[in-house]
Amino acid sequence: MQNASSRIAIAGNPNSGKTTAFNRYTGARQHVGNYPGITVEKKEGTAHLDGIEVTLVDLPGTYSLTAYSLEEVVARRVLSEEHPGAVIDVVNSGVLERNLYLSVQLLEMGMPLVLALNMMDEARSQGININVERLSELTGLKCVPMVARKGEGLDDALRAAVELAKDTGGRVAPLEISYGTDVDLALKEMTPIIEEAKLMTDNYPARWLAMKYLERDEEIIRRAKKINPALSDKLKARADSLAAHLKTTIKSYPEAVIADYRYGWINSILKNGVVKGADDVAHDDRVAFSDRVDSVVTHKIIGPLILFTILYLMYYVTIEVGAIPNEWVANFFDWLGGVVGDSLGDGPLKSLITDGVIAGVGGVLGFVPLIMIMFLFIAVLEDSGYMARVAYIMDRVFRFFGLHGASIMPFIISGGIAGGCAVPGVMATRTLRSPKERLATILTVPFMTCGAKIPVFLLFVSIFFDAHRPLVMFGITLCGWAAALLVARALRSTLIKGAPTPFVMELPPYRYPTFSGVVIHTWERTWQYIKKAGTVILAISILIWAAMTFPSPTADEEKVFDDQRAAVASSHEAGAITDEAYDEQISAIDNQDMQQHLIHSVAGRLGTSLETITSPAGFNWQTNIALIGGVAAKEVVISTLGTAYSLGNVDADEDTTLADSIRNDPHWTIANAVSLMVFTLLYSPCFVTLMVIKQETARWRWLFFSLFFNLAFAMIMAIIVFQILA
Ligand code: GDP
Ligand code: MG
Repeated sequence: MQNASSRIAIAGNPNSGKTTAFNRYTGARQHVGNYPGITVEKKEGTAHLDGIEVTLVDLPGTYSLTAYSLEEVVARRVLSEEHPGAVIDVVNSGVLERNLYLSVQLLEMGMPLVLALNMMDEARSQGININVERLSELTGLKCVPMVARKGEGLDDALRAAVELAKDTGGRVAPLEISYGTDVDLALKEMTPIIEEAKLMTDNYPARWLAMKYLERDEEIIRRAKKINPALSDKLKARADSLAAHLKTTIKSYPEAVIADYRYGWINSILKNGVVKGADDVAHDDRVAFSDRVDSVVTHKIIGPLILFTILYLMYYVTIEVGAIPNEWVANFFDWLGGVVGDSLGDGPLKSLITDGVIAGVGGVLGFVPLIMIMFLFIAVLEDSGYMARVAYIMDRVFRFFGLHGASIMPFIISGGIAGGCAVPGVMATRTLRSPKERLATILTVPFMTCGAKIPVFLLFVSIFFDAHRPLVMFGITLCGWAAALLVARALRSTLIKGAPTPFVMELPPYRYPTFSGVVIHTWERTWQYIKKAGTVILAISILIWAAMTFPSPTADEEKVFDDQRAAVASSHEAGAITDEAYDEQISAIDNQDMQQHLIHSVAGRLGTSLETITSPAGFNWQTNIALIGGVAAKEVVISTLGTAYSLGNVDADEDTTLADSIRNDPHWTIANAVSLMVFTLLYSPCFVTLMVIKQETARWRWLFFSLFFNLAFAMIMAIIVFQILA
């Protein structure tokens, strides 16, 4: 009986030199037959190395591992069902890019791989220089230069394969690359279902099987359907919905998108100092065009300049143009509050509807137009493929701070370009293979300017920095980055020490974003925001309104104000004061009454008692209430301030926006505003993010770390800022 670990398969493209290598290894000790029932040749033989006997299988040459040809199906089956201990992947070094396409797929299947860089003699004579060490570092694979025809490198490759087989037992964690947001999402939904049902998972990785459904792989789908028809139909339906989505959004189909990202993965490896001197003749037009664009866009100096110009432009347009519809929406909610308020009698119901629901949710919805413009930009950047380049460019920076090139995506998703959300951001860290860099990323993505913090910044920036809005907003985003990177650096040299791992980022070819694609992607994100405003934010708004309304002052306390009003009224009747003075005094009393009411409430008491701690940072009790609410969801900071100022605002029928109220409140200076913005940027992640941190790290410890470390960090920074500016 053969021990599985001493069975090694030789895979590769046709004409890469597999048979030449196989013959050299096995000499005459070969057995040639056919795979049962089909005409594909099956070649096995034995080799002797360092005194042990190794069985070698020469797989049919293929460019891919789809089910387009019989050879591919056979190669795939042998690999997955005959369980070789390792695979020697023979590649033609002269056309590495095309040959590595098969390697990616072998890795996706979870095969332990030795990369045999064959035909090195030809590559060298063509002036192609391959940095084998760098290739090995980036792929994590043992790479052996080889000239099969002369027998060079053969023993090294076989020895590496035997060792790998011994170390891995024939299976390694499958390579999980990103295939773009849409495909990744489908895979993320399908993989756990396949895992749970154990559908063919003895032989194939679950994510790989899911991918086969997306690629419409007839062989796998047919076999899976026999085993579990209901599940298979369900998976197929999900694959169909992805196909339909891709068709409308980018006029493409899943197979093509997946292939693009595989090439993108290879592309980014080869560009990372692996190959010098290769010509691009073999490329198709689209790839050649992408390469030309990339030579500028990912250039060491020009690349970052373009990146910053694009980001700044995005801020400029979003904030300058977005301000216009933003005001319309804000005015609409003011008007609505007035109309609804007039139609309801005074009392708690009116207060609930106007101060709680309309002021709270309206404050959040008011930012929809602006956020929509921002999402529009992001959709264009993502759909065109530029977003992947951003990651690539930023990699050098990230390494310095102990993070991973792949950390960039979670950062961007969380709001690195503003307007994201840390919840999917934390989840996106799953693509990071190093646990330490992953953890450092998870703990620092909440410092980004997520979509919920933006309204807070916009509000105060428009009040205090109206002339420089884009610049200040851009600066805030950079502050978020600075905080994240510095904390990451600190964490990586204290709590989460460890060496960095090499990274590979997908650089798929550029494509023109389609109009419908951009519209759909923009709308998807905007709708998420609106939905959140209508559900979570609404519920929290009502809770906070109640906390700000109850308990009401006692009758005795109310009587003080009633007496004051009566006194003013009687002196007015007596003609002692003018009409104007009367109005003024009454509204002053009303105002005090309202303030008293608010201070008396649960939230008011909490906010007031916290003032001793927060006053060095310049927060008043209204701010304290808002910030406590912000742990539930950051949008609540605005809605709570809205409610606080709306409750405390006597001239309810006059059109006063929250911005006006703050502008008119002597408490608010630039120092308070900046301090609040710094605090909002840095303090504890919202409730949902905290839960996701717990889920992704599987440790309560990191939830509490995020909650308390960020809180303390934010408080210290806010105090410093306030003390300097005040
Ligand atoms: P297979 O299709 O992968 O089995 O490839 P073969 O082993 O049949 O090789 C294809 C051709 O490449 C043959 O003409 C070999 O002689 C040639 N070849 C194989 N290895 C090398 C090498 O390292 N250098 C060069 N220059 N030619 C090689
Ligand atoms: Mg052959």
